[in-house]
This record gives sequence, structure tokens and C-alpha cells, in this order.
Amino acid sequence: MLLEVCDIHVHYGKIAALKGVSLQVEQGEIVTLIGANGAGKTTTLKTISGLRPLSRGRVLFEGRDISRMPGHKRVLAGIGQAPEGRGVFPGMTVEENLLMGAYARKGDLSKDLAEVYELFPRLAERKKQPGGTMSGGEQQMLAIGRALMARPKVLLLDEPSMGLAPMLIRQIFEIIKEINRRGTTVLVVEQNAQQALQLADRAYVLETGRVVKSAPAAQLLDDPEVRAAYLGGD
Ligand code: ATP
Repeated sequence: MLLEVCDIHVHYGKIAALKGVSLQVEQGEIVTLIGANGAGKTTTLKTISGLRPLSRGRVLFEGRDISRMPGHKRVLAGIGQAPEGRGVFPGMTVEENLLMGAYARKGDLSKDLAEVYELFPRLAERKKQPGGTMSGGEQQMLAIGRALMARPKVLLLDEPSMGLAPMLIRQIFEIIKEINRRGTTVLVVEQNAQQALQLADRAYVLETGRVVKSAPAAQLLDDPEVRAAYLGGD
């Protein structure tokens, strides 16, 4: 098991955002976490990457308890995140943004840059453009590319489809699949349940801070309750 979240509880002041969430991600998988607004998806990712403290439970990475490890050390350990809202540095060029993703690594980064540019030709065309002037979809690509520069073992993605046109959503999801094919494990949070379930191997459904279902993604696509609640279906 690469990543294990065991019964985590997370609070914002007195408000309990996560009330005992458990999930597992195996090496090589794409796992998705779906759920409505406010279900706790972003909070789960932030707790895994070390941006939110937990009040109970544990996060294990490669069998090691990292619950109290600071976020920057988790990046070094192999947990990469492309945050919701992108977090692109607006005044820096595309290439400078990408290099920031590898700030903690030494040595030659040209091979890593070349790989990101191969995945995202749009970034290669615009490497000298300020990050802040890129379109929403391009900034999403940049955020994912920057996370890849740290060579993560697991890539955490927070709503990669947010604000994107349908064609671009398909493109981003294809690229996520390719990143996974090249060896990176992926945990992706999505409100776009249909696309996420088509992409993922397995899925967890989160409702008000609790996991209410977990199953192979294909099975949830056919689940009547999931269809009614999240797929706008019959
Ligand atoms: P969305 O899809 O809308 O981003 P989400 O599933 O990612 O939702 P979270 O952002 O994890 O949900 O939020 C879970 C709960 O925690 C919500 O009730 C939210 O209002 C609350 N919450 C999140 N961030 C904070 C904060 N900084 N202060 C107080 N409450 C917060």
C-alpha cells in the first residue's frame, strides 16, 4: 500500500470537516474521491499533503506514519500536489513556475522539463509567458506540470476539471491517464463525478465528512444511488 488514511478527523475551529475518513491508495492506481460541495474532499487532500493538521487518526505513506510530518518534507518523501485554484505564481514565467516545483531537488532538471513539455506541448510553446497571463486551462496544466517536477510517487489533484470547457476537461483527463501510465500513482478529487469515475480504477464517495461508499469506479458508474446523486441520472 502506498498511501493509507486511517480514520482521520479534521476540524476548522469547532466545525468537524472530516469525521473519520479512511481510504487506501495502492501503488500504480488512479483513485478518485467524489462528493458534493463541502463534503470534505479538499480537506482530505490537504491533510494528506500536510497543509491541515488532524485531530485524530493517521496518515501512512509507504507504511510510515507521516501524520505529524511538515508539508515540505512530505513533498520530498514523494507526495506531490496540484492545488485547487492552481496556485500559479503570476509574475513568474511558465518555465520559472515549473522550476519552482523542483526547488528542493539538485542536479540537472532538463530531462524533467522536457518530459513535462512533452506531456503539455502548450506549456512548451509558452515557456517565457508570465504564469498569470495563462488561461484557466493552461494554468491547470502548469500546476500539474509543476507538481510533476518534484517527481512525486503519488500525485494529489484537486478538481483538475474546475472551470474548464468540456474539450479541455477530456484533454486534462487524458493527460492524467498518461501520467499514471508512466508510473505515477494518482489520487484525484472531483465534482465532475462522471469523468472522474471513467478515469479512475477505484473511487470513494464522501458525504459530510464521511466515506459512504467505496468500490471499483466502474461499479459506481452503475450504482443507482450514485447515479441519482452525482451523475444527474435516472
Ligand atoms: P468543494 O467541492 O466545495 O471544494 P469539498 O468537498 O472540497 O468542497 P472542503 O473544502 O474540504 O469540501 O470543506 C469541508 C467542510 O469544511 C465544509 O463544510 C467547509 O465549509 C469547511 N471548511 C473548509 N475550509 C474551512 C476553513 N478554512 N474554515 C472553516 N471551515 C472550513
